[in-house]
Amino acid sequence: MSLQRLSSGRLSRVAVGALASVGLLLAPGAAVRAQGEPVAPNIERDTEIEAIFHEEMDPIFAAANLDPKSVQIYLVGDATLNAATGSGYHMVVNSGLIMQTKTPNELEGVVAHETGHMARGDVARVGEMGRSAIAPMVLGLGLGILAAIAGAPDAGAALIYSGGYFGQLNALAFSRDEEARADEAAVTYLEKAGYSAQGLVDFFNNFRYEEVFSDVRKYPFWVDHPLTDERIEALAARARTQSHWRAQDTPEAVARFEIMKAKIKAFTNRPYQTYVDYPLTDTSYPARYARAIADYRELETEKALKEIDALIAEQPNNPYLYELKGQALMESARAVEGEAPLRQAVALRPDAPLLRLLLGQDLLAENNPAKLADAVLTLNRSLVVEPDNPITWQYLAEAYDAKGDGGMARLAAAEQNFHLGQLRDAKVFAMRARGLLQKDTPEWRRATDIVLASQPTADDLRQMAHPQG
Ligand SMILES: [Zn+2]
Repeated sequence: MSLQRLSSGRLSRVAVGALASVGLLLAPGAAVRAQGEPVAPNIERDTEIEAIFHEEMDPIFAAANLDPKSVQIYLVGDATLNAATGSGYHMVVNSGLIMQTKTPNELEGVVAHETGHMARGDVARVGEMGRSAIAPMVLGLGLGILAAIAGAPDAGAALIYSGGYFGQLNALAFSRDEEARADEAAVTYLEKAGYSAQGLVDFFNNFRYEEVFSDVRKYPFWVDHPLTDERIEALAARARTQSHWRAQDTPEAVARFEIMKAKIKAFTNRPYQTYVDYPLTDTSYPARYARAIADYRELETEKALKEIDALIAEQPNNPYLYELKGQALMESARAVEGEAPLRQAVALRPDAPLLRLLLGQDLLAENNPAKLADAVLTLNRSLVVEPDNPITWQYLAEAYDAKGDGGMARLAAAEQNFHLGQLRDAKVFAMRARGLLQKDTPEWRRATDIVLASQPTADDLRQMAHPQG
């Protein structure tokens, strides 16, 4: 489980620092929402949640003629209700959205609506000022992921990620016409996918009262996707005529949905809240899972391990239970014990890069020179599947450094910074890597490419041509 790590590690500090410059960039004349300061988005990654999401939503993407594999979901740890899509089939979903949908079908409805925007290529309109400001802002956030969401070449035009982070800009909302068309598309996709559009109607009805709010009091989702009575009526009328109108959530879908909610709650709320939400009297799987996560976060490691082992006894092929066990051990300075469960998690889901990342991190945390080669190998295998994850590069740099391989450590640090959109640091590390790596090897050439892609100055280029200078 990596929800915690990505939201509390170096990445978020980078993002917070970079946001200061975003403030400077936008301060004069920019409309800032009354909620106040912009908040650094925490992109949460979790193999299980992403798998549940895809299992549920892939039929919708397929109905929209999108390759489900090409749709990347980004979960943002933010209690605000929001979701958005970006170019290149990126979909951003706030944990708050998942929390505020009551059934899988409601979430399917919202995702189908966002897919409608994505498939139609709708872009939230931004003013001319915004258009020129967004590209550097997105880079300034220090998250290559967000730069990717914004898309190239016209980052401003393609950026649909409004909400709390980008909501500082004026006029990001979709037009009523775009909303109506996205609703129509949503009904079509849901029907094709075998789902009812009732969840979307219900979800809109749950928030009908927000219509009377001023924009600053609304959830950002409703500012960007204005809700009106006519809109809800039109949607409902169309939805009722579909043959899957009465289709119900399957028990499996409900079970997965509850696991996803329990996991997000247990990892994002304070542990005491989890004990309130899931009291001991609740012996369901999601409740026990949530309590085990809360125990581990409370550093009640033994208690957590006992509960996780009991869950493993019932579900011996569940990779995420081994993942949680390994993470609990690693984070309580028991990395040596954490290795076996993490290897089991990887064996059960060899295709999951985040599980390999966690194993690599654990091998590194064992602080044993004999494990370093394996750490490097494991992290590199994670990067084969997900080459743009800056966290993986960060640990790979540490692993090479511990091995005493200075050139490769600097190359990995250059990659890390490059994927964070921090081109200046990427260039510096890549220049150092070039000086240490053997000339004309693939690694040396990759370092050269990073320098060239990181806005080198004339001086940099001269130094590359005449390294002794
Ligand atoms: Zn919309």
